[in-house]
Amino acid sequence: MKTTLSRRRMLISSGCGVLGLIGESAAGLALPLGEARTQKLLLDRSGAKWGSRPMFLRPYHPPYIVAYYGRREGLNSAKWSPLILRVANDPDLKVRIVEAFDDACAGCPKLEADPMGSVWGVGHTCSSAKDPAMVDLVTRTNKRILGELGLFFGAEMRLKDLVPLLQKNVPLLYEGIGGAESQADYEKGLRDLAGKYGL
Ligand code: SF4
Repeated sequence: MKTTLSRRRMLISSGCGVLGLIGESAAGLALPLGEARTQKLLLDRSGAKWGSRPMFLRPYHPPYIVAYYGRREGLNSAKWSPLILRVANDPDLKVRIVEAFDDACAGCPKLEADPMGSVWGVGHTCSSAKDPAMVDLVTRTNKRILGELGLFFGAEMRLKDLVPLLQKNVPLLYEGIGGAESQADYEKGLRDLAGKYGL
């Protein structure tokens, strides 16, 4: 089954970091299924090189980007800091809406290699993928926010253009996109980004 290596090649070519393979597996073109082989998978996402490619985000993640941008002072998150750094440093940053594991997943400590893949994509699984209630929530949330923003899987736009859409169509955070506890950070993030982009 080639799903694991296909995922590896995709991650490397897209700059999402390195999926290293230890020992004899490194030279193979495909890995058979099996726990022993699975245990030889090594994920190393440190120092990801995003280059100029769009930031891949699932639909429910842009509000989190805004909220974490709002609380960026002193932020030290393996998952969010690399993304917030891109927002801060690239005034023309583009976002592509994707359905499977995205750039937030790249640094997520819950991501695990799994040759069988999961509901969120090939080659990996995580606690979210294993939790039917979470899968249901994420799926419903994605459907809702895609409708609110008028977007679709595969849509690509500048973050500069996404911010006004969020301001207008998603003024209040709800369950699945950060909830009330993130509202203040979200509003600050929207204000800061509107100022950054001269909106
Ligand atoms: S829990 Fe899973 S789906 Fe959520 S960010 Fe982490 S790896 Fe991605």
